[in-house]
This record gives sequence, structure tokens and C-alpha cells, in this order.
Amino acid sequence: MKPKLLIATRNPGKQREIRALLTDIPYQIVFPDEHGLWEQPEEAAIEDAGSFEGNARKKAEYFAKLSRLPTVAEDSGIEVLALGGEPGVHSRRFALPTDDASEQDEANNRELLRRLAGAPEARRHARYRCFAVFLERHDAVPRSFDGQCTGRILERPAGSGGFGYDPLFFSDELGKSFGEATPEEKARVSHRAHTFKALAAWLRGASG
Ligand code: IMP
Repeated sequence: MKPKLLIATRNPGKQREIRALLTDIPYQIVFPDEHGLWEQPEEAAIEDAGSFEGNARKKAEYFAKLSRLPTVAEDSGIEVLALGGEPGVHSRRFALPTDDASEQDEANNRELLRRLAGAPEARRHARYRCFAVFLERHDAVPRSFDGQCTGRILERPAGSGGFGYDPLFFSDELGKSFGEATPEEKARVSHRAHTFKALAAWLRGASG
């Protein structure tokens, strides 16, 4: 029986992608609900570090302490040139916060289009970034991994695959939006793919 590794995210889109990326590792991955860690009101306040890496580290420490399991937390988002790098660490709640995750995604996408109204193609460059932090224990030395992918923000959504900003993100590498990409295509080029493939390789090596 492999030891458990807690993946500290409640986002179903991220969970799907991470499950497919963390293959052949010497751990059995579990998400917070599967380990009896139901969402707590204080969780909303964890992500106040001002950087993706800082937020990922804070989430990892919080969940490693609660679960007493080796833990990976990730923080990710999209940075848009015309907006000076916004929404960045504010990607999840770019529009006014709502309780429903898919309503929130739609509101975020509308807000992004509103803020970019009239912006020429050259200013619509964007990149997705993803940081993951692994902690063997809550007070262990953290190990960080990161990845990014580049593209531009479309003028209207294309496709309904992925989650979050994916229908608006035209990937340079795929030549289509992440909303139009299959899960396998996104898993070849995405910010999360780069990050979690590096983590998976390190976990395989660290156990060998
Ligand atoms: P976090 O939970 O604070 O890391 O929020 C990340 C937010 O960034 C998500 O809620 C999405 O809005 C956005 N995001 C991050 N990665 C992706 C992706 O792969 N596709 C679409 N949106 C993403």
C-alpha cells in the first residue's frame, strides 16, 4: 500500500488535471474531502501572501498541519499584459466573489473581457502560471515547482472544455483555445502540466 499524499485543492478542474498528471508516483493521492477535511471558513483567508509561491506555501503548511500527511498545494492564475499582470494572484475572485464556482468563472471571464474592451491583439498577450509546493511535514523544508504557458486573450469565448479562463485563453503552442483543446492536449502544454510533471519526476527520484 502506497503512503498518502494530500493534494490541497478543492477546485474540481484542478483535481481532474492533477490526477491525470501525477501518474506513476510512489504515493496514493487524496483530496481534502476524501481525507475528511471539509471546507472551513478560515480557508478563504489563507491566500494573502501576494505571490503564487507564497500562497502555495501557506496552503501547504495549513493542510499539512491539519492532515499530518505529506502535502502538495498549488496556486495558479493568469497574467495579462494590457492589465499590468492582473488578475494574477487575484484570478479566482477577479469579479465580485460569488459562492458558486461556475458562476464565479463566468463572472471572471466577463470582467476580463470588459477590462480588455478595445485592447489590440498585441496587448492581449497573457500567461498562465502555476506554483506547487511539496511539504513532507508542516515544518519541513518546502520544495517548490513552477511552470507557465503563453497565449493571448480572445475577444469572445471559444469552446467549453477546461475550466476558469480556458475558453478565453488562446494557446500559442496549440494554436487554439484551451476551451477547444482536449484534456490530453492541455496536459501536454499547460502551466499545470509543466509544474506537476516536474513534481512527479522529483517524487519518483526522491523515493528511489
Ligand atoms: P487559486 O485557487 O487561487 O489558485 O485560483 C486559481 C484561479 O486561476 C482559478 O480559479 C482560475 O480562475 C484561474 N486558473 C488557474 N489555472 C487555470 C487553468 O488551467 N484554466 C483556467 N483558469 C485557471
